[in-house]
Amino acid sequence: FKKVYISAYQDELTNLWNRKYLYIRLKGEIKRLRHNTILSLAIVDIDDFKSVNDTFGHLFGDKVLKEIADILKNNLRKDDIIARWGGEEFIIVLPNTEVKSAKVVFNRIREKIEKYDFGCKITVSGGIAFVNEYIEPEKLIEMADKALYKAKKRKNRIAVYAK
Ligand code: C2E
Ligand code: C2E
Repeated sequence: FKKVYISAYQDELTNLWNRKYLYIRLKGEIKRLRHNTILSLAIVDIDDFKSVNDTFGHLFGDKVLKEIADILKNNLRKDDIIARWGGEEFIIVLPNTEVKSAKVVFNRIREKIEKYDFGCKITVSGGIAFVNEYIEPEKLIEMADKALYKAKKRKNRIAVYAK
């Protein structure tokens, strides 16, 4: 029996950071932004996750969530913040990273997931937004969410927020 310590800031299923931690860290990172630095944020959402659960069951769905969490952990830098945002949504905060690079990062992850053998076809879509001055964390997440909404229409792709 292996006892694993899970802090109040971790998501129990995936061991990623949880919503609460993400908020605190994101707020801190946005406050620390200085001249010429950009922070990008990506929401990653599993395409058609409901039908994965309906077809293969919730245990299988949980396994997919865990595997995706591991792919994220293994393919991002230590300074990047990775959190489980909700059911099938993850948020990645990329400090000091412009949008062009954030797209490179997301596409690398998107391709890894597309090629990974989960036992069924799994793809993700993403929405990216960025800031270079203080705004509320909620606002930045809302911007990324709007971009995600666009990406979702065609799936397995990324969209960047534009006003
Ligand atoms: P690349 O893979 O095409 O990445 C281009 C730029 O995207 C990077 O420029 C960086 O600004 C951003 N980027 C890529 N992956 C990440 C990430 O996981 N987190 C964050 N926050 N940003 C990311 P940079 O740093 O000048 O790196 C230039 C190139 O050097 C990269 O091009 C890649 O070919 C190589 N490289 C740098 N670090 C690593 C690494 O840890 N592993 C591997 N395999 N290659 C690396
Ligand atoms: P790390 O910076 O924490 O990055 C962890 C993993 O995220 C990397 O594992 C790689 O899979 C992915 N990654 C991060 N940045 C990039 C990037 O710019 N492009 C690509 N294609 N992948 C990226 P990896 O490659 O096994 O590297 C392990 C560690 O070795 C990195 O941890 C970093 O500390 C160091 N490292 C590797 N390549 C470079 C490099 O070109 N420049 C620097 N400064 N460090 C590097």
